[in-house]
Amino acid sequence: MSRRHICFIRRQTAYNNAMITPETLRTVPLLALLDDTTLAELAALAADMHLIDGEWLLREGETSAFFVLLEGALEVTKRVAGADQVLTHHHAGDYFGEVGLLLGAPNVANVRATSDAHVLRLDATDFHNLMGKSDQIAARILQTMTRRVTDLQRVSVETPVPRTLIVGHPADLECYDLRQFLSGNHQDFHWLDPGDPVALSLIPEDLRKEPYPAIVLPNGDILRIPTKHDLAERLGLQTTPRQPLYDVVIIGGGPAGLAAAVYGASEGLRTLLVEREAPGGQAGTSSRIENYLGFPTGLSGADLSERALQQAERFGAEIVVTRSAVSIQQECADAQVVLDGGQTVETRSIVLATGVTWRSLEVPGAANLVGKGIYYGAARTEALGVRGKDVFLIGGGNSAGQAAMFFADYAQCVTLLIRASTIEKGMSQYLIDQLRTKANIRVHLNASVTAVHGDAHLEAISVCDAGSGQEERLNTDSLFVFIGADAQTNWLPETIACDDRGYLLTGLAARQSGKWTLERDPYLLETSVPGVFAAGDVRHGSIKRVASGVGEGSMAIAFIHQYLALLEQETPPAAEPPAYPAG
Ligand SMILES: Cc1cc2nc3c(=O)[nH]c(=O)nc-3n(C[C@H](O)[C@H](O)[C@H](O)COP(=O)(O)OP(=O)(O)OC[C@H]3O[C@@H](n4cnc5c(N)ncnc54)[C@H](O)[C@@H]3O)c2cc1C
Repeated sequence: MSRRHICFIRRQTAYNNAMITPETLRTVPLLALLDDTTLAELAALAADMHLIDGEWLLREGETSAFFVLLEGALEVTKRVAGADQVLTHHHAGDYFGEVGLLLGAPNVANVRATSDAHVLRLDATDFHNLMGKSDQIAARILQTMTRRVTDLQRVSVETPVPRTLIVGHPADLECYDLRQFLSGNHQDFHWLDPGDPVALSLIPEDLRKEPYPAIVLPNGDILRIPTKHDLAERLGLQTTPRQPLYDVVIIGGGPAGLAAAVYGASEGLRTLLVEREAPGGQAGTSSRIENYLGFPTGLSGADLSERALQQAERFGAEIVVTRSAVSIQQECADAQVVLDGGQTVETRSIVLATGVTWRSLEVPGAANLVGKGIYYGAARTEALGVRGKDVFLIGGGNSAGQAAMFFADYAQCVTLLIRASTIEKGMSQYLIDQLRTKANIRVHLNASVTAVHGDAHLEAISVCDAGSGQEERLNTDSLFVFIGADAQTNWLPETIACDDRGYLLTGLAARQSGKWTLERDPYLLETSVPGVFAAGDVRHGSIKRVASGVGEGSMAIAFIHQYLALLEQETPPAAEPPAYPAG
């Protein structure tokens, strides 16, 4: 049977015919305290849920509700220090969900059926009404909540946090890269600088001498100057695809790629995401994204990518890190994505979500000082490195504004060097307003960095003021660069049409490129090669925002479904087995 003809028919649960009646509710010790009228009301308004063995009822972080288990069994787990821990099991008559509702917080644990189960669910308003109906019930629920919160505190205090130690010099580019990598892959780590006498006393004896960077893994193993790939493998991250054929291979793990992975895997496609560094992309380096729907107080890029990663993995997407896609070949309907190291993965469709890469600072001396005082983008890991210092940021866009806000909490003074004559030209008003609230942020308009100075590490920069024409040398050992980015698509085959800056043409633009070969029109996000889609910042004409990247990644999967359906229509049915002559 073809994949698109598969449909999921829910099997009947053992309790499918069970209904919520006042009599069932009276068997629950907590609810037995209620009078008949209230029980009848409750039976009428509660949601009646039937779970099959293994089905998830609730996930950590979801909106809370109040549940009573009427029949069956449930397991409660929580992710603590990076691993899932079983907290408890619920049996018929137990209730839960009150912690989140009473603290006004999202749900604190995952709950899954370990047999077929019949569950009553009350939303927040009905739960609070129930608490108001009986002092005894309210007192019991509050007692239970207190006990559970104490238990949760105990679990998180008693669970040792597996932590990686990295030892290396601040000016060492490899050490910087490894820190970025650990942070991007949401690995808890501690960094010690062997040049700092206080830190030196904390460094294990056998790591007090070069070569650096050195890593101590949570299991005690020591690695000296590991590659990111080695480190990823030793930390248990997936670095190699597991299957020979996928329905979709997504290249790039920024917001667009992660959204495609979530939608692809959740809709039953065999989904692989290949990321050369760590999931999150540019957004992963953002200290606070304030304009993403549903997060009124903003969230950090690291938070967003960690959530997206968990979501994609939960749906069964494979996420491979520290691997780059280096070419795409197409010899038949299926394409081959070649990864660095030569491994080839076969796939029925591709989403290119490779985003953009920071444009480099083209001034004398800059290339040699990258990672030694000059940094592209701003990672949270650098916050401690700028404590008490005067730092400079080049760029007038939102990313520079956000980074300035972030560093202002650590540095003595943050100077934004902006080439334009007004800040409004490149930055959103909300950020400009925020910058004004920080006394230690200075904005220097009409300013261009013309040279950088230092041998082993950045020592100073020369800044030219376009208004006065004067050049000034300013001492600093930290310069963060946010001067725009370019699409790096030169590794793709010539058949995939780009504009003159390397951004990928899709839809009508792909047809007009002259490289489209089919009679049908390309789908909106389809490139000039059928079955190869582009989403997010790498796409010509994209909006270059997290929300639009997420939208395009999700839409690409919808188009892939249509594309795969077309492929199946076009594929001739398998030949009938030969008919044997009777007798
Ligand atoms: C500091 C900063 C702050 C920002 N703040 C905001 C904000 O507040 N709000 C907002 O809406 N937008 C913000 N943006 C913009 C937003 O982050 C981007 O628009 C968004 O990340 C684009 O997503 P993407 O998935 O298309 O690409 P990217 O995020 O660029 O991700 C692309 C990924 O592809 C990987 N990759 C590239 N080539 C390959 C290859 N050959 N093989 C494997 N992997 C590859 C890269 O390593 C990268 O992880 C910010 C950007 C920055 C830099």
